[in-house]
Amino acid sequence: MNKRKELPLIPLRGLTLFPYMVLHFDVGRDKSIQALDAAMMENQEILLVTQKDPRLEDPTEKDIYEMGTVCTIRQLLKLPGNTVRVLVEGTVRGKILSMEQSDPYFRAKLEEVKTVSDVSETEEEALVRSVKDAFDDFIKMSGNMPPEALITMEDMDDSDRFSDMVCSYMNLKIDEKQELLEAVTIKKRLERLLVLIKNELEILKIERKIGSKVKSNIDKSQRDYYLREQIRAIQEELGEEDETQKEITRYKSRITKAKLPKEAKERALYELDRLKNSGPYSSEGGIIRTYIDWILDLPWNQFTKDSKDITRAREILDAEHYGLKDVKDRIIEYLAVKATKDSIKGPILCLVGPPGVGKTSIAKSVAHALDRNFVRMSLGGVRDEAEIRGHRRTYLGAIPGRIIYGMRQAKSNNPLFLLDEVDKMAQDFRGDPADALLEVLDAEQNSTFRDHYLELEYDLSKVIFITTANNMDTIPRPLLDRMEVIEVSGYTYEEKLNIAKRHLIPKELKEHGLEKNEIKFSDEAIKTIIDGYTLESGVRNLERNLASVIRKGIAKLLETKRKTMTISPKVVEEFLGHPRFTYDKADLEDKVGVVTGLAWTPYGGDILPIEVQVMEGTGRLELTGSLGEVMKESAKAAYSYIRSQAKAFKVPEDFYKTKDIHIHVPEGATPKDGPSAGITMATAMVSALANKKVSHEIAMTGEITLTGRVLPIGGLREKSLAAYRAGIRKIIIPKKNEVDLEKLPESIRKDMTFLPVTQISEVIQEAVLGEK
Ligand code: ADP
Repeated sequence: MNKRKELPLIPLRGLTLFPYMVLHFDVGRDKSIQALDAAMMENQEILLVTQKDPRLEDPTEKDIYEMGTVCTIRQLLKLPGNTVRVLVEGTVRGKILSMEQSDPYFRAKLEEVKTVSDVSETEEEALVRSVKDAFDDFIKMSGNMPPEALITMEDMDDSDRFSDMVCSYMNLKIDEKQELLEAVTIKKRLERLLVLIKNELEILKIERKIGSKVKSNIDKSQRDYYLREQIRAIQEELGEEDETQKEITRYKSRITKAKLPKEAKERALYELDRLKNSGPYSSEGGIIRTYIDWILDLPWNQFTKDSKDITRAREILDAEHYGLKDVKDRIIEYLAVKATKDSIKGPILCLVGPPGVGKTSIAKSVAHALDRNFVRMSLGGVRDEAEIRGHRRTYLGAIPGRIIYGMRQAKSNNPLFLLDEVDKMAQDFRGDPADALLEVLDAEQNSTFRDHYLELEYDLSKVIFITTANNMDTIPRPLLDRMEVIEVSGYTYEEKLNIAKRHLIPKELKEHGLEKNEIKFSDEAIKTIIDGYTLESGVRNLERNLASVIRKGIAKLLETKRKTMTISPKVVEEFLGHPRFTYDKADLEDKVGVVTGLAWTPYGGDILPIEVQVMEGTGRLELTGSLGEVMKESAKAAYSYIRSQAKAFKVPEDFYKTKDIHIHVPEGATPKDGPSAGITMATAMVSALANKKVSHEIAMTGEITLTGRVLPIGGLREKSLAAYRAGIRKIIIPKKNEVDLEKLPESIRKDMTFLPVTQISEVIQEAVLGEK
């Protein structure tokens, strides 16, 4: 027996609510508002029944259907003008048994009607499936269904609920909806639904057909075309040659003259055909023209002839760059192999080093040495595959990717193509640019490179690619595997001076249109600039500052009407202002607990003085100053090791109970951290605990283990340069780093002593006075 109850009732105008459906509608009629109020006072349940004629303002009992839906009221919202917005959720069908009152609002006795399942399971399943398919088609076709409709519809295996959901999403006439509401058996409801959806589909199809016909008839471009045809006819009458025709003829002759590959030529002619029909001022025409221009502007068959003269190549590299012996040697090797094998398969060179060390300009020299055209494209910040490979032309404002872009600039099919900053590519959801780049660089694949915009095969196999990076660690691994890394490290003071004198100053003078002797720099002036105004491994800021001095010098020459001038350190300060940087200089006397360490920073090396104080206390270890996490760990390791070896180091054996140790790393201009201060801290601690002085003439670098071994470190070159600059001539280094000494400049190796060690005890012996 179905449940019976008595509920307030609201007649709906033009709406039908199904069970499970959530709906909000506005209520304005006084009667309905009172019904709502009553419902809120009771169980917040209400019966919603559709009225047969939505236009009736004041329906009576006979004007509404018998079958409605029992709903729970979820929300009431008072709107201005005595209207209430109601949010309801349908729960079950409700059939009116008798109308209890119609004033001041409707109240009805009703019977809840549950859906009756009157078919076999398989039949039900079959019905549900056909409805689902038809509904899917309907959604695709109508294209304006909320996506959540599909989501809620997925995996819904309650056919009662499913059918009601579909009913509620369908846009049907009132009586059709009512029919579905009244279909209380599952079979009847699904069958009826199927028929109705199919009907709707049919209607949609016809609408489409009519729509496109109507649309194409009034299409603007069509109209334009028609008008233009008329103009053409008039022009012909008047004997004027049509502009469009002229353009087409011009393109045609360019296409036939250009040495295009077959595919490209056919494509260009095809597009030209489309251009003819598109009308000269249409946006479509613009897109086609740009595309044809791209095809014509690309070098398909233009080659430069490689110079294979290795001696000349060496001369060019030497003339254009100071120093960089290793780099030049590797490049000459590379060129020699290329010249003999006459193939460019093989590794891609990757020049790795800090900014301003000449990576770009070396690549330029290689192009010069080979007589190849040079293009450069930065990959920094590229995060989208499309930036490498282009956007499809369907995209508004599409352009080719950077590779094809570069090739157009190159004007030959075999340029030297520099890909800058391969380590600065990012990746995101739009695809990994590194994958696309891999294909570009792969000699097996790149003869048929396809850009999305161009949609034509383009041969990249004759291109020499060279890449650059600041940091090897962030180059995508698969790319790194394809490349041969050449490290270009920072310059020494001496080298910078020479680069400035031989290359940067002459270049800048020339660029500013000056003769060699009009503005001269004294060595001291250059040194002042290097020391006080730049903090870098390379020479980029040096170059910038030199240029700035030259510009100011020119102004001065004009003002004073003099012909020449010499730049001294004083003039540098006058032009550039106070020096911006000062370097730490090493201590000038031996002290207890003070040791000079060495640090590597992104700007090169620097010295890293470490101070240790020992006080009566309870065995605390305190660390202050600019210490990173790694250095704190090193300090603790050193502490433990000294404790285990207290006797050997002749320090108080109970220091870990009776003394507090305070390690301080004075703040420098740049933050420093790294696992290379272990032995420095250990030495300072031993010195402070044993109350013995440390030689101020020694600097050191090395990591320490809990057993006192000294481990190798990185950046020896930069650190040595820093020590040298600070006036130190003796450095303790880990034995394993001895091999790196070869990389040091001759001038430094000659002047400095390096003491390789394997154990911390050796360090103590060398550095702490009176231990030898
Ligand atoms: P990177 O590409 O490594 O950032 P650049 O090639 O842009 O550096 O070099 C910066 C400037 O320094 C350029 O003008 C370059 O010619 C000059 N330069 C760098 N190294 C040398 C060198 N060894 N000899 C001569 N000029 C150099």
